[in-house]
Amino acid sequence: MDDCYALPAGTEWTPVDVALDRLRLSLGPVTPYEEVPLAEAAGRILALPAVAQRANPPVTNSAVDGYAFAWSALPALDETGMVRMPLAEGRAAAGHPAPDPLAHGHAIRILTGAALPEGADTIVLQEDCALEGATLRFRPPGKAGANRRRAGEDAAKGDALLEPGRRLAAQDLARLAVAGVATVGVRRRLRVAVLSTGDELVQPGDPDNGVGIFDANRPMLLALIEALGHQPVDLGAVPDDADALRAALDEGAAADAILTTGGASAGDEDHVSRLLTTEGAVSTWRIAVKPGRPLAIGTWHGKTIFGLPGNPVAAWVCALVFARPALSQLAGGRWETPRGYEIPAAFEKRKKAGRREYLRARIDEDGRVEVFRSEGSGLVGGLSWAEGLVELPDEAMTVRPDDPVRYIPWSGFGIGGG
Ligand code: AMP
Ligand code: MG
Repeated sequence: MDDCYALPAGTEWTPVDVALDRLRLSLGPVTPYEEVPLAEAAGRILALPAVAQRANPPVTNSAVDGYAFAWSALPALDETGMVRMPLAEGRAAAGHPAPDPLAHGHAIRILTGAALPEGADTIVLQEDCALEGATLRFRPPGKAGANRRRAGEDAAKGDALLEPGRRLAAQDLARLAVAGVATVGVRRRLRVAVLSTGDELVQPGDPDNGVGIFDANRPMLLALIEALGHQPVDLGAVPDDADALRAALDEGAAADAILTTGGASAGDEDHVSRLLTTEGAVSTWRIAVKPGRPLAIGTWHGKTIFGLPGNPVAAWVCALVFARPALSQLAGGRWETPRGYEIPAAFEKRKKAGRREYLRARIDEDGRVEVFRSEGSGLVGGLSWAEGLVELPDEAMTVRPDDPVRYIPWSGFGIGGG
């Protein structure tokens, strides 16, 4: 075996980018359209452009508390830089426009958010004014049109406010609301079924026989699906048995996509990969990534399925790297490239060519990125220790302290934590 390469020779290993390109190019939205009230739209993915139903602001209004007047009516400044104008009766307040147009040469009391009366185009701050009976004495602002908000300056009627594929954030609801949008066309949430496999698995709360492995992947992945904005569907756990697995996958096919863990390798008890190969379809199997070698991507009854590795660390990394962008696209959202940045390493490492590697990592007190004490993928504790992942390229690489490496915080994968 050629020791320059990190993976066994004689098998074809698909580079990460090839696997990702295949997913990106082959998957489209699978969820139907529905109309929901704005107040229920947070976290949902827009199916249609959201269009402004009217301008914001609808009419030109005041940005401050002060007095409105026509710039062209300003008299000459006196020796102190002030002017005098007679005060018109009444006032303009938010929700209560002035009843009449403003007489030329007059000023009128106006409050923040009030429609600018016809005949006025400029507002002077109340702090720059003094009232002398029915006369207003003030230092004029620097220019015509000062302190007003123009009709439509935020949004014009008919403007496309947000594009399809966008997941609506809290602040987007404000943007839509001010433009008169009451309901939005979104995608139904993507239903993602999660199944654990393995004869050794016991469930949290089960009597502890001392040798079983507690099912860690299912609670982790169900919570991840939720955090990514999808609807988790719990398929439970099945033993390493083709019939039980087939029945569970058939149930999972009622959802929009399926994530399984375990049994994706090529061993005697790796029923997920075997069943997908014989009765489903496998589009990508061996991916040149660490952690995560046994990862099978394909379909079961036409539904996209990720046969993730059983190891919780590998399942987590593969779910973030491969399943997350794919699920987003299935849900009608955008392909999501993780957002990372280059940062000096606080560690040393040599990696061979031929596979991409992800290390559990976080930023240390010096602002450098440190990695978990061991790369052992059985060390589930490293996932809680970490605040993100270091991504090392497919090529060979020697990292020395202070060399720049790519760090992707959990937020770069669209999730919180840490
Ligand atoms: P497999 O991919 O099925 O060969 O499993 C790889 C390793 O992950 C084995 O040590 C399994 O016991 C372990 N494993 C599989 N599924 C889970 C799970 N749901 N929770 C915790 N560990 C698991
Ligand atoms: Mg197994």
